[in-house]
Amino acid sequence: MSFNALMVNKNDEGKTKAEVTQISEDDLPNAEVTVAVEYSTVNYKDGLCIGPGGGLVRNYPHIPGIDFAGTVESSDDDRYKPGDKVVLTGWRVGEAHWGGYSQKARVKADWLVPLPEGLDTRQAMAVGTAGFTAMLAVMALEDHGIKQGPVLVTGAAGGVGSVATAILAKLGYEVAAVTGRPETEGYLKDLGASRIVAREEINETVKRPLEGETWGGCVDAVGGAMLARVLGQMEYGASVAAVGLAGGAALPATVIPFLLRGVNLLGIDSVMQPYDNRLRAWERVAKDLPMDKLEAMVQPATLSDLPKLGADILNGQVKGRVVVDVN
Ligand code: NDP
Repeated sequence: MSFNALMVNKNDEGKTKAEVTQISEDDLPNAEVTVAVEYSTVNYKDGLCIGPGGGLVRNYPHIPGIDFAGTVESSDDDRYKPGDKVVLTGWRVGEAHWGGYSQKARVKADWLVPLPEGLDTRQAMAVGTAGFTAMLAVMALEDHGIKQGPVLVTGAAGGVGSVATAILAKLGYEVAAVTGRPETEGYLKDLGASRIVAREEINETVKRPLEGETWGGCVDAVGGAMLARVLGQMEYGASVAAVGLAGGAALPATVIPFLLRGVNLLGIDSVMQPYDNRLRAWERVAKDLPMDKLEAMVQPATLSDLPKLGADILNGQVKGRVVVDVN
């Protein structure tokens, strides 16, 4: 029985092309669990892997999709049986291994997490890697203590930023949302942001290592000059959870905020998170992310929409979360 997948091929000149293709179960890699995929999403890394690869893809032909949710069809591992609902993020699936842009996927049992109670497969992918990572970032800030001032969320209209904004607002924090798209103000306020900060206000290179103590915490999806600038605006002892590099990988900062204000820079990695922490984060998502806010973030899509959406996310043009119905 054949089924559909978004396959990326590379030609002799090194140019990649992504197309919906029919494959069969025999084409899938060897692993313990076969999943009938229901939904996947579009993350920044997916944009790279649908396109030229960004150094993430090892072999072609390749099936991208760094996350998916679906139903177990067969399993050689005792932890899963046919009919179980599962979610997968990370472990370099969709990069080094074939991913979720396919009606079936075969993966290691260790990579799966049972679908958390209170979420269906579509909602799990509306959250996806971006939302799961936003939750990890909020948990890291909580572990280090969120201070009094507003919590800043950078790249707020993107996937990580949208989910972080909704969770922080639900938890009762005042959220200041940084966006380069003024037209998203209404959307961000509906998610719970009480204040909008224009990207250009905060995007400049650091001139003074310390500015006024403004933010009680920060979830940063942007990195680069913006992260460097934010470090000097944090309250005494406050923390920044560094999640992304949508604005660049360089960090043109000074160490002064760490030394004179005890600011913490917390690294957030979703890919290699241990299993117990994954369970904890998904349970927190089910509890602390209002489902009506999640629905407001969703843009539905199909496999054939992916080549365009991949380019859009690399250009910072995707608002909220894309949910791909692979069937
Ligand atoms: P999105 O593209 O959905 O969001 C990124 C947002 O950043 C954009 O929507 C835009 O927000 C803002 N932005 C884009 N370009 C720039 C720029 N040049 N300068 C300033 N702001 C910019 O991506 P995701 O939310 O899915 O991911 C965000 C980042 O987090 C990515 O770098 C991704 O790789 C990383 N990530 C890391 C993970 C981890 O495990 N550490 C897991 C998941 C994602 P706006 O229009 O509101 O300004």
